[in-house]
Amino acid sequence: MFAAGLQLETNTFAPWPTGTRAFEEGGVRRGAGVLTGQGPDHKTAQLWRDLCARDGHEFVAGLFGWAQPSGPVVQAVYEGFRDEILSELRSQGPFDIVLLFLHGAMVSTACDDCEADLARRVREVAGDSLVIGVELDPHCHLTQPLVDVADAVILMKHYPHDDYLERGTELYNLCLAKARAEAQPTSALFDCRMVGFYPTTQQPMAAFVERFGEVERQPGVLSVSFAHGFPWGDTPDTGSRVLVITDGDPQLAIRLSRQIGMEIYAAREALLPRFPGVEAALDEALATAGLVVLADTADNAGGGAPGDNTSLLKAMLDRKITSAALGAIWDPIAAAACADAGVGARLKLRVGGKSGASSAQPLDVEATVKAVRERHDQTGLGDSRTAMGLSVWIEVNGIDVVLNSIRTQVFSPDAFTGLGIDLLTKEIVAVKSSQHFYGGFAPIASKVIRVATHGAIQMDFAALPYAKKADLNFYPRVADPLA
Ligand SMILES: [Zn+2]
Repeated sequence: MFAAGLQLETNTFAPWPTGTRAFEEGGVRRGAGVLTGQGPDHKTAQLWRDLCARDGHEFVAGLFGWAQPSGPVVQAVYEGFRDEILSELRSQGPFDIVLLFLHGAMVSTACDDCEADLARRVREVAGDSLVIGVELDPHCHLTQPLVDVADAVILMKHYPHDDYLERGTELYNLCLAKARAEAQPTSALFDCRMVGFYPTTQQPMAAFVERFGEVERQPGVLSVSFAHGFPWGDTPDTGSRVLVITDGDPQLAIRLSRQIGMEIYAAREALLPRFPGVEAALDEALATAGLVVLADTADNAGGGAPGDNTSLLKAMLDRKITSAALGAIWDPIAAAACADAGVGARLKLRVGGKSGASSAQPLDVEATVKAVRERHDQTGLGDSRTAMGLSVWIEVNGIDVVLNSIRTQVFSPDAFTGLGIDLLTKEIVAVKSSQHFYGGFAPIASKVIRVATHGAIQMDFAALPYAKKADLNFYPRVADPLA
């Protein structure tokens, strides 16, 4: 068995292309290095290695590369990583099974569907008898060419994506069954004609996740996946889809994918996010007892936003809110200035607002440096670790603010507590994240409020300026697109 990974959730509306440095900062590992890495992709490779060891199969890890979501990957950079995976496959093979840990929303400057391109070339190198399994993030553009070229595609079901190892295990088992001719995975894809955002910690989406499990327990059904889609990637295939894999029964796959897709479609109005704006969210937070977590959904680096929007911090300062923490604002310049000034220093500082129009205005503040950490990190998905780089805790008019140097969303409380900030004494904790914060922060929150700030990731899906999306007949742009 051969395994490789290449991941970029591409925000085609983001200001910058993604190059080699972005992948190096995110993590590019090869061979034995993959098996000591701490990212979700590395943890998945380690899982597959352990399953192979248990079952007595050879396991070879190729390249695993991941970059923080941003704009389209430079074509030559994509081809470089792709061709390295293909040449490893050629030189180290032949293999019976190739497992790929991909994102599913990778767009290069010359290709809208990098995952299908990679899988097709893997097939060309290794031949028709090779079993190809692909694990994807649900925020993917799940395309027919990818489903056609792979033997099995399995998506994470949870958002936050804490189930990547469970899905990795299912993919391993399914591909092994296919290689042994014990199963005949047969896929069907249904287009829900929806663009949306579907945290699975809330209803009605949580019930759909249960429903997928029920359907998987029916005779002849091997896997059910819901592709949430990635609204901020403009491709011909952007949108929400249902994938059902049966054991050699195409009619059952078609029938079930349509049935589940129509159930989701029927719930589309309840599934549409309706988040308050900044002022309404602060009103609600101030009227709530206990610790309130505010999620700045629009400036989530995990969706390709810069992570330096200042609008929520400015509103909190304007209202003279204290007993609050906010993080992480991506500002390597300000973080470096604070680190140089040292702990205890009080300085004039220009914070955030630097990347572009979606960052709002920089804030000029008086800050006190409370802590500096050269290589700060936080707990990521599962027990993975996510680097934050040189990070500082500054206090601004009673608000504890985290500035970081490696662009990332906030996943876990240790993004704050790792610098010494005590969250439990706060009334408001504001995090830059859409949903991956939820597992870590919901347990300490009396209430979680997702805030629609004016950042790069807007939830007004009907207004997204799609130019490539082939079918503009989608909800919520159209009330009943399947009528
Ligand atoms: Zn995702």
